[in-house]
Amino acid sequence: MLRDVASRGPVLAVVAHPDDESFGLGAVLAALAASGTDVRVLCLTRGEASTIGAGVDLVEMRRAELASAARRLGVGGVELRDFPDAGLHEVDPALLDAAVLDTLGSASTLVVFESGGVTGHPDHRAATAAAFRVAAAEALHVLEWGVGPAVADALNDEFGTGFGALDGDGVIDVEVDRGVQLEAIACHESQATDNPVVARRLELSGPVDRVRLHTPNR
Ligand SMILES: [Zn+2]
Repeated sequence: MLRDVASRGPVLAVVAHPDDESFGLGAVLAALAASGTDVRVLCLTRGEASTIGAGVDLVEMRRAELASAARRLGVGGVELRDFPDAGLHEVDPALLDAAVLDTLGSASTLVVFESGGVTGHPDHRAATAAAFRVAAAEALHVLEWGVGPAVADALNDEFGTGFGALDGDGVIDVEVDRGVQLEAIACHESQATDNPVVARRLELSGPVDRVRLHTPNR
């Protein structure tokens, strides 16, 4: 299925934070890049609201971490915007759509966190909503990534998190290789050390990622 996405043409991942491309989409993006397609990332915020790693020049550090993680994943280009971290959902949607459109190039598929934002973060939901609006207007495919109900329930039980599941019609569990993803995660040094939720999610998911492909209506 990922091979079909890759064969359709270039792919643009639309995410809210530096590390979403690795912590979340890493295995999917690595698989797409390994299939030979051009994969790029649009990251809408610089991650400046993170309390992990605060006290250093967080913006510059996270920019560099994103660049090296993207290289590790095989991503050919990163566009980093400076919409407000933790405030993305309050930005005029038209501005977010314009950022996606500006970065689109010849992409035929957008890769996103599922519509509920996976962790429930409102920034994640805002980034995905912008991608879906542009995809509808431009007749693009959208590949949603998320976790299944068993993984979401286990994480919420263990950590008190607000994970929502990607479930229902059209979901597919694809086998993935976590090796490259783990290396990309490690590039995010300011965020990766002592991140028990990410580690546990990957453990619970095993070698399987859950996705759903939306095809355009025309
Ligand atoms: Zn995030």
